[in-house]
Amino acid sequence: MPAPTHSFTAIAAVYFILAGAPLAVAAVGHEAAGRGFWIEFAVGLGFVGFAMLGLQFALTAKFQRLSTFLGLDALLHFHRQAGLIAYGFILLHIGILIAASPDYAAFLDLRVDPVRALALWAAVGALTALVATTLWRKRLGIAYDWWRLGHAVLAALVLLIGIAHILRVGWYVDDVWKQTTWLGTTLAAAGLVAYARGWKPLVLRRRPWRVTAIHPERGQAWTLDLEPVGHDGMSFQAGQFAWLTLGESPFALAQHPFSLSSSATRRNPVSLTIKAMGDYTSTIHRVDPGAPAYLDGPYGSFVLDDEADGMVLVAGGVGITPIISIVRTLRDEGRCIPTLLVYGFASEDEALFLDELAAMGAGPDFCFVPVVEHPDDGQEGETGRVGAQLLDRHLPEDREGMRYFVCGPEPMMDVVEAHLRARGIPLERILSERFNLA
Ligand SMILES: Cc1cc2nc3c(=O)[nH]c(=O)nc-3n(C[C@H](O)[C@H](O)[C@H](O)COP(=O)(O)OP(=O)(O)OC[C@H]3O[C@@H](n4cnc5c(N)ncnc54)[C@H](O)[C@@H]3O)c2cc1C
Repeated sequence: MPAPTHSFTAIAAVYFILAGAPLAVAAVGHEAAGRGFWIEFAVGLGFVGFAMLGLQFALTAKFQRLSTFLGLDALLHFHRQAGLIAYGFILLHIGILIAASPDYAAFLDLRVDPVRALALWAAVGALTALVATTLWRKRLGIAYDWWRLGHAVLAALVLLIGIAHILRVGWYVDDVWKQTTWLGTTLAAAGLVAYARGWKPLVLRRRPWRVTAIHPERGQAWTLDLEPVGHDGMSFQAGQFAWLTLGESPFALAQHPFSLSSSATRRNPVSLTIKAMGDYTSTIHRVDPGAPAYLDGPYGSFVLDDEADGMVLVAGGVGITPIISIVRTLRDEGRCIPTLLVYGFASEDEALFLDELAAMGAGPDFCFVPVVEHPDDGQEGETGRVGAQLLDRHLPEDREGMRYFVCGPEPMMDVVEAHLRARGIPLERILSERFNLA
């Protein structure tokens, strides 16, 4: 079900309270030191920036409920923006302090206190590397899995040096309860890393899976069937996804998210349909039946709620995978709700599940609109890209109670979302799943 706006507001409110909490902690029982506005302001920025860095760990700890509720893409988008703001706050903290009183430059002076200065330079360097490798990962040629590992290590380093800095400087943290609060929350942030990278894989190890079959699909894609080994598998809602780790160890570096493409009425086997897009996905076709695997999930809020009177599904390319699961599930449940599926693909050779969808397109409640970007000569039907005019030709007149699902390439999603909004569809009825997280 789409997350209600007031729930988003509640989560945002909790975030802002936690990010601002250090200011309240600092203010309790502290007497004004007469250092002037700019110095106090800079110290406040430092506290809030550091608290935001700590909260970054909570956003990426893969809490199933949080990511199911908000959506992984929204969560990671927020994580990214919050990280940039926290970085800005910390740079301003340093810059304003030195501008307000040049004595503060001594903190970074290797001649004054080499250990302290080295640690602070290391923290600023690590923070800058975190931001730069996130913004320019592809340009720097860093593989996603290595980037993820490096990101965690750099973040932990910044956290460690940051808390040491706060405690050593000692301003506003002179009481034992304040020091304990700071240490406790920093340890909690470190605990979140241990939870995501240690505890979760340990739990997964007790629930292994095995690849039972691998089917080639159109367009350089393969469907992997996976069966649970020694447990009852995974119950999921159509449209959700799971993190796949292939191999004997759930601690492996490579862990990638894929939508479950099979019907949610079927627990065994479950299927993932994976298109060769990069380093990892290009090796999927080499997986042998019988290969061990781990599935962490289900996650995601790209799911149909019971109150929907109808659905408009707009998919592009491999973005059809969560949508085929929704369509298959409704079919298997025998649930009839009016459905329009607009599916854009480059050419028929690339169109996943085309025959299955075309066969369903004959049903009274199901309208299938394939859109071929590069049609053969004389090809009938919709051609070109999925855009505003095409949508207007097919969107139903009665839009009350409809749910809208959008999944595909970024430019298509931007156009479709903007057009649906322009046609008066409320935001909470538009569900989007973005595959590109970086
Ligand atoms: C919720 C969700 C559902 C998805 N469902 C499907 C699906 O059903 N079928 C399908 O083919 N693809 C799906 N993807 C995309 C798939 O996860 C990426 O294409 C794949 O991880 C790319 O890895 P690569 O090394 O082959 O490509 P690369 O070229 O290294 O990466 C391409 C992009 O994929 C993303 N990515 C890469 N590695 C990871 C990782 N470990 N974790 C998170 N993101 C990563 C990054 O945004 C990266 O920029 C989904 C993605 C998300 C977020």
